[in-house]
Amino acid sequence: MGSESNLIEFQAMSLVGEEISHMALDIGGSLIKMVCFLNSDSAGDQSPQSKDEKRDIPNGKLSGHFLRGNLHLLKFETSKISDCIEFLSSKKLQRCGKWCPESRTDDKITVKATGGGAFKFAELFKEKLGITLDKADEMDCLVSGSNFLLKVVQREAFTYMDGKKEYVQIDQKDLFPYLLVNIGSGVSMIKVDGEDKFQRVSGTSVGGGTFLGLGKLLTNCKSFDELLELSHQGNNRVIDMLVGDIYGGLDYSKIGLTSNAIASSFGKAITEHKELEDYKAEDISRSLLRMISNNIGQIAYLNALRFGLKRIIFGGFFIRGHAYTMDTISVAVNFWSKGEAKAMFLRHEGFLGALGAFTSCERDGLDDMMAHELVEHLPSGVNSPKDGVIQDSDPIENENIKV
Ligand code: ADP
Repeated sequence: MGSESNLIEFQAMSLVGEEISHMALDIGGSLIKMVCFLNSDSAGDQSPQSKDEKRDIPNGKLSGHFLRGNLHLLKFETSKISDCIEFLSSKKLQRCGKWCPESRTDDKITVKATGGGAFKFAELFKEKLGITLDKADEMDCLVSGSNFLLKVVQREAFTYMDGKKEYVQIDQKDLFPYLLVNIGSGVSMIKVDGEDKFQRVSGTSVGGGTFLGLGKLLTNCKSFDELLELSHQGNNRVIDMLVGDIYGGLDYSKIGLTSNAIASSFGKAITEHKELEDYKAEDISRSLLRMISNNIGQIAYLNALRFGLKRIIFGGFFIRGHAYTMDTISVAVNFWSKGEAKAMFLRHEGFLGALGAFTSCERDGLDDMMAHELVEHLPSGVNSPKDGVIQDSDPIENENIKV
């Protein structure tokens, strides 16, 4: 994870008398992402605002109470779905179905779920937990999750180049169009023109799954974090063939290539008579990370060019707030666009689909009200990590899940 905390605070609006506790899932090829909303009361927060702050909703349709709550963001490995099932069964999920009025039918609990796993594991959830997965379209959810974050959460988007992180405050009236590039196991590129107006314009199968899959085969690493950690100490020049390697140390300046530019990823391996074990795992990991990030940055730029988009927003868990990954993507976008297009990243990069599924439930049940209320009532100190309520608790790496 990046050094920045993932805690963000908001106050949520709910109907009077309802106990709020709700969740949504994004079950992907590599990871299960979960968004749980917990009313502060149930989390033990005795804040005076948490119970009885009454307020009329601006559109005049409803009157309700403010409830302070926490959005907990969690992830599990899809291959260890039993951990997720076990976690849910230990959390007395019965409460989670209450929020959406239509989500409880004949005492069955229905939970919004997106991603391919919502289909693949539907029976398992029913059998083990009695939960019916209410399937939400993956692209719809990615887009609405991204729009939600960009509109609701302050200091969500940022640029990253040469080790410098800069937050971008996007004017809401100027949010569209943008290219959303979600780097999960595979990569989707979506042209977003409005709240519900979008088109998946491209993608590539060379994504996060490729990094982890090839990385495991080439280095014997067991996990994404191990592979990422290795890449910190690696040097890609040991394996990548650079322009200088071909041109005797010289730049190919006529076409704008410096001697340090990569001419061929992993290309040195063809000229050196070495075996896999002669290369350090650190260098392999570094080259792999660079190759994949660079390639995605370039394809993203080409699609932005295709549709005249200046803003490219990258999400998905492949990024993991990792400096080298973001830097490589930014440099690729900057290089190919000659500085015209910008790569932006999101602090809650990996939860777009899950947040989209979560907000789609609000849309069904509360007519978009919650999102608007969140926008209005974000406290001013939201930037400070200690203030947070979107909480990225990580069951893979952190056992202290406060849900
Ligand atoms: P999907 O929905 O396809 O699972 P994600 O957005 O969750 O996509 O991203 C999955 C990718 O994120 C993996 O392929 C891997 O590259 C990367 N990743 C980041 N953290 C982890 C982790 N803890 N375990 C496995 N993969 C991870």
